[in-house]
Amino acid sequence: MGARREGKALANTGRHNHQLCVAEALHRAETVCKDSGARMTSLRRMVLEQVWRGHDAVKAYDILAWLGRKRRSANPPTVYRALQFLQREGLVHRLESLNAFVGCSQPRGNHQGQFLICGKCGQVSEMEAREITRLVSESAKAKGFITHRQTIEVHGVCGQCA
Ligand SMILES: [Zn+2]
Ligand SMILES: [Zn+2]
Ligand SMILES: [Zn+2]
Repeated sequence: MGARREGKALANTGRHNHQLCVAEALHRAETVCKDSGARMTSLRRMVLEQVWRGHDAVKAYDILAWLGRKRRSANPPTVYRALQFLQREGLVHRLESLNAFVGCSQPRGNHQGQFLICGKCGQVSEMEAREITRLVSESAKAKGFITHRQTIEVHGVCGQCA
């Protein structure tokens, strides 16, 4: 039930069964990797699970600290490589303004996103407003600029914290 409600956007998650979000994220990851022929190793999976420990952005060194307790072999390069892999597969997004990562709730295709970042609780929700993407591309084009990728990070206060 909750799964359906969560489905599209992660806006205003509030109190919900987060186990379900994690389970869905891992399930999506398996499907994505199957389709792309990429290998979801146990380490990559663990890193993805950590990114999904909540709906706030997670720093690489927090993942490393956690992983270090679980696995002796975990070191910064292994964590960074796993994060790069997850980014490539579209399973996580890197938020430049926070230098941190969030899980993607719709890792299909090479989508462009807008991220709403709450300054109080840290929750990040992802929007995919195509009109915004189109408007940015068109405005850029008017200046002779060709857009390859755009990530818009919006800082403010979420519905629960307002
Ligand atoms: Zn959740
Ligand atoms: Zn996404
Ligand atoms: Zn908030």
